[in-house]
Amino acid sequence: MRSASLFTVALNRKGHKSEEYLHLPLAAGCNIRCSFCPADGCVNGVHGNTAPPLETATAMELVEDLVQETKGKPRILLAGSGEPLASPKTFEFLEAARKEFRKLDITLVTNGLLLPDRFKDLLALNVSTLWITINASTPETAELIHPWVLYRRSVYHGTRGALLLLNNQWSGLIAAVETGFVVRVNFVALPGINGHEAGAVAQTAGRLGADCMKVIAPPPSKSPCSIEAVRLTDVGTIRDECDRFLPQV
Ligand code: SF4
Repeated sequence: MRSASLFTVALNRKGHKSEEYLHLPLAAGCNIRCSFCPADGCVNGVHGNTAPPLETATAMELVEDLVQETKGKPRILLAGSGEPLASPKTFEFLEAARKEFRKLDITLVTNGLLLPDRFKDLLALNVSTLWITINASTPETAELIHPWVLYRRSVYHGTRGALLLLNNQWSGLIAAVETGFVVRVNFVALPGINGHEAGAVAQTAGRLGADCMKVIAPPPSKSPCSIEAVRLTDVGTIRDECDRFLPQV
């Protein structure tokens, strides 16, 4: 059954393989705008994986196959192509998986906007790990990266949207930690735009109880907020800074 495009490997900081997941991209749309978004797959969780969205039934078949061939707890990663928490298919899948499979290790990747609204549902549906993307510590920087957000059927632009997003990301993170989820913070590094705020994000996340952090280099794109060539040395420097506050993966 192993379709290479649907398996993703989490690398540790030294680039060594640490964990392998079955990546299930169920969500097609997104509820925020990231200026670096490549439009063919969210970069927040699975860098470079642009598998098209799956139907719930197909996802269930893939999990069934994986359960048959895996000893122990199969790892599932719900990420992209858009925002998992904004897609009814995510919850349809989780409901079906809860009824069908006893042992799954489920990680969900989110931009955090809907996390305060949905974390209890995720807990009830056996999600154990959350990767929450937080790309800024101030609304000024968040606004540059996220020009709008869509929340409860209203679109918020500029500072209002940035404040709403940051508020929900942090309150969602606090709720997730207190509820017992394993929490990883993802930070998409845009040196020159948000690199100077990475340490503050790491420090706050560490203080609030997050478990680890991943600094992600964005793919090149034509977006004005993206970097044509993000220098790995810049990203490495940002990781070193964040490592002072939170273990880096
Ligand atoms: S959260 Fe992911 S899918 Fe949504 S705009 Fe950002 S990068 Fe794109």
